[in-house]
Amino acid sequence: MRILLAGGTICPFDSSRSCISSGYLGIEDGRIAFVADTLPTGFSPDRTIDCRGDLILPGFVNCHTHLAEDLFKGLMEEVNFEGLFYTTLFRWEALLDPEMVYWGSMAGALDALRCGVTTIADMYHYASATAEAVAEVGIRGHIGQKILGFALERPPHQTEHGIDYNFDFSAFSAQLNAAVEFASAWAGKAGGRITTCIAPHATNTLDREMLSAIADRAAAEELSIHLHLAQMASEREAIRVREGMGCVAFLEDVGLLERPVLGAHAIFVDEGEIEILRRNHVSIAHNPVPNARDAGVVAPIDRMRDAGVTVGLGTDAFEMNLLQTARFAVLINRIHAGRPDYLPAYDALAMATIEGAKALGLGKEIGSLEAGKKADVTVFDMSRFNTQPTREPVKNLLYYGDTCNVGLVIVDGEVVFEQGRFVRVDAERVLDELRRASDRLQARIAASATGGE
Ligand SMILES: [Zn+2]
Repeated sequence: MRILLAGGTICPFDSSRSCISSGYLGIEDGRIAFVADTLPTGFSPDRTIDCRGDLILPGFVNCHTHLAEDLFKGLMEEVNFEGLFYTTLFRWEALLDPEMVYWGSMAGALDALRCGVTTIADMYHYASATAEAVAEVGIRGHIGQKILGFALERPPHQTEHGIDYNFDFSAFSAQLNAAVEFASAWAGKAGGRITTCIAPHATNTLDREMLSAIADRAAAEELSIHLHLAQMASEREAIRVREGMGCVAFLEDVGLLERPVLGAHAIFVDEGEIEILRRNHVSIAHNPVPNARDAGVVAPIDRMRDAGVTVGLGTDAFEMNLLQTARFAVLINRIHAGRPDYLPAYDALAMATIEGAKALGLGKEIGSLEAGKKADVTVFDMSRFNTQPTREPVKNLLYYGDTCNVGLVIVDGEVVFEQGRFVRVDAERVLDELRRASDRLQARIAASATGGE
């Protein structure tokens, strides 16, 4: 299939850092054939799409998601997140089944496409169910199955002396084996759209022996790692008490940073740990919206970026609007920096595209519009009120753009979302099944609260 996008402003996010004001982008066999300001001769497209007035960008890369956590939407937004996290969330997750995770993931993946996101990096339970959804919907997924240091049925609990994590090495081992099995079974599936990793949950929900076992296994299987890193004050405190060091220093100490690592959040890190991130080439997924919403904190991404750490953007749970996340990253970090010129629109959108792709270890294949790369493309309709007049399309999109501007989404050279319609999937059916799965989960939560099932 050959597709020609004709006449739009193309911002390739390549090393030139420049845009073509009226250009042509050719796609052939799933890859970008050319990006040019004049139409090359000899390219005969099967389909030509008129993109005059549009802004054409690499598809967004969402570096940290839990698609199926959509099922808990509305239950956790105005509570003591850290308290809920240890006392309640794991108990709720124990009530999930693969079918619920499948429909939660289907809905999350469609929501992602609607927001112009072409790649998600997901870590959750029943990762095979998420991988099936990713394969079906047509999005690209970098997926890992979550590994905990305890049995989900016997989660941590609060005691008068703090949190008892209920560590259980045999329960952990079974989860590690399952996660590795998932990673090898799904790597390269869906025509190469699925890549895999392993996903230890966080630095404090596994102990030293477990993280060391993960480091050994990841090295033996040549797997990359995606985990929550220094997300919560209680996480930092637990590692300080247990190990006498910070979360990042602890990961280096157990050998985990010898593999490619994507750390989500990195809020509670000091200058020394930023240096550890840099020298170990650890990438960070910055999730400014949930960090502000759940804990009122912001990660020091200004200092990480200055140090040369690769920082992509993530939405974490419940939403997929990476454009809003990029805008929020600009605003909150500008408050933090006290400068109106900090994190320009172009740099924020680079974090949503090429920097995110690099953070996942996929920077050579996706994240920018260059000949030879996989054709993951989002076309924004800039003719709407919120983005007119469009003298500076990149600034207009970052500061004023919304999901209403997402006109066309292409993944792996295939149109998967166009003018509000999902090409591969019946969205109404997915919404029905999502609501049904959510109702079943709520019934289980209610039953478990009263002691029955
Ligand atoms: Zn998360």
